[in-house]
Amino acid sequence: MTTDRPEPFQYDVEVESGTKRHVRESVCESYLGDPVEIPVTIVNGAHDGPTVFLTAAIHGDELNGVKVVQEVADNTDPDRLHGTLVCVHVCNVPAYQAQQRYIPVYDQDLNREFPGRANGNTAQRMAHQLYHRFLAGCDLGIDFHTSTRNRTTMYHARADLTNPDVERLARAFASNVVLYGDGEGGSLRSAATADGVPTITVEMGRAHRFQPALVERALAGVESVLAEYGLLPGEPVRWPGWYTTTTADSEKRWLRAQTGGLVEMEWGPSPLVYEGDPICTITNHFKTEEHVVTAPFTGLLVGVLENPVAAPGHPLCHLVRLEPETRDEIEREIERGEFDGYRTRSGEWTGDD
Ligand SMILES: [Zn+2]
Repeated sequence: MTTDRPEPFQYDVEVESGTKRHVRESVCESYLGDPVEIPVTIVNGAHDGPTVFLTAAIHGDELNGVKVVQEVADNTDPDRLHGTLVCVHVCNVPAYQAQQRYIPVYDQDLNREFPGRANGNTAQRMAHQLYHRFLAGCDLGIDFHTSTRNRTTMYHARADLTNPDVERLARAFASNVVLYGDGEGGSLRSAATADGVPTITVEMGRAHRFQPALVERALAGVESVLAEYGLLPGEPVRWPGWYTTTTADSEKRWLRAQTGGLVEMEWGPSPLVYEGDPICTITNHFKTEEHVVTAPFTGLLVGVLENPVAAPGHPLCHLVRLEPETRDEIEREIERGEFDGYRTRSGEWTGDD
């Protein structure tokens, strides 16, 4: 038995059944020796059931999830809940205060250090406290992210679909797209899943802002998960209309710039592109040279560059190959107008805002 772990939070003992409690818990110290506290809301339902964690802002500038967690924590009625919700509003407080992705000064990525180490570097210590105090004892979890600065991502989940428990969770969350992957080493998702706590990551839109349409979808997704696992009996488990997943062998590729210059997006209005379709054009500043980037295969654009300048090697977009059946489903949705206004000429995904 290791003694360097923090006491796990006793949800059933420290929060009375049928109530909600807001706590602030120190996970490290500032330069001044003051505690750096993370805000956590615990909703202990009046009825027994599983314990589910929701985490946001492991990357400090990824804000959509912060709004999702705030709304879930506020809206969940403990009298109705069968089980416990653990809502970690902001995981990476130093990065959140600086509004940047990584822990300031040392640029450590908190999401590469789980489950953490008691006597490691700052990121490892923070991960250790957060993980063992609040998350390791849960039954399942959802970790909210956005794209990194200067890019945007289509709303999707990432999950280790070879694990049936994770697959069930990903399906219940009801996003249209689930990308297969067992997660980067040290990510919360991979560490928790390896410990028997099935966890998915949700990727939604851009850093540094709230995108209400995406927040709404994520709130519906959380409710669907709570329905699936019996925390909200009587609520429906959602079906997203169409659903595509990738496997370990699925073709997915970041298309990268081969030349430097100004980037103009050509794809759209829907994120479905066919082999050979132009995705974007890169011109030099004199407009004497033009390089058209085309889709190497028919697929779905799940991530695109927003910064309109690129140098060789910069990622332009992330393309995932689609099976014909999924393509047919998406084409039917396009015909029904589901993707109308999805992207403006400036490259913004208005449908996601
Ligand atoms: Zn992130």
